[in-house]
Amino acid sequence: MTAGSGLDASLREALLTAAAAERLLVAVDFDGTLAPIVEIPSEARSLPGGLEILEHLAALPETVVALVSGRARADLAQLAPVGDAVRLVGSHGAEIDDVVLSSDDAERLIALLAGVRLAVDGVEGVTLENKPAGVAVHVRRAARDDAARVRESVLTGPATTPGVHVTRGKEVVELSVLEADKGTALDRLRAESRATCVVYLGDDITDEAALARLRHGDVGVKVGAADTAAAHRVEGPPDVVKALRLLAEHRANPADGAR
Ligand SMILES: [Mg+2]
Repeated sequence: MTAGSGLDASLREALLTAAAAERLLVAVDFDGTLAPIVEIPSEARSLPGGLEILEHLAALPETVVALVSGRARADLAQLAPVGDAVRLVGSHGAEIDDVVLSSDDAERLIALLAGVRLAVDGVEGVTLENKPAGVAVHVRRAARDDAARVRESVLTGPATTPGVHVTRGKEVVELSVLEADKGTALDRLRAESRATCVVYLGDDITDEAALARLRHGDVGVKVGAADTAAAHRVEGPPDVVKALRLLAEHRANPADGAR
């Protein structure tokens, strides 16, 4: 089967053009993009071949690859064991480098954790994920009315503390003492890699910050049916793997295939 079959013609065309870029940055979200969404977040895994394709791309000349996740970087490293050539960016970009908190931020984080624990205390199906600079409140497994209530109490309570930054995802509210979003992270990756073309794939609201920063000639791919700033769309992670494989094959061997 040809790599990329199942992708629509305009996306295939855009990926083939990107594959020929002088210097390419490929940035990919993890959960819901490379890894199917699962009930228990610690059980998320990339689809077969996904991580290998990222490593393969990262080994090609003038090609920089990053996994850009909302997860803590240590968590991402465990779930997505890739070689050093693939850059891991965690906490929506707050962990593009190691996090070093000022003493004010460290104190703010301690108070934030206490406030969030109080707000979600004992609600079934709600889980807290601690990160170096914040905490994520996951509501995917909660009853819908509980999920709405917890979101509300987090957003009207701890989220309003000065110096606390809020990121809203589909099934998560994240509070951080450092300001970060995937758009800022992508801008930095672009600058550092001196990329002449960026390919970004993501499924969540938080990916929109990155998709909105794409420029003419870049390729933005929304995974799933939600509203997006991206010019292209695929159905789910299997198509993401197809798209990455198409990109990798054509970047490795530009003469191969219809151009
Ligand atoms: Mg995602």
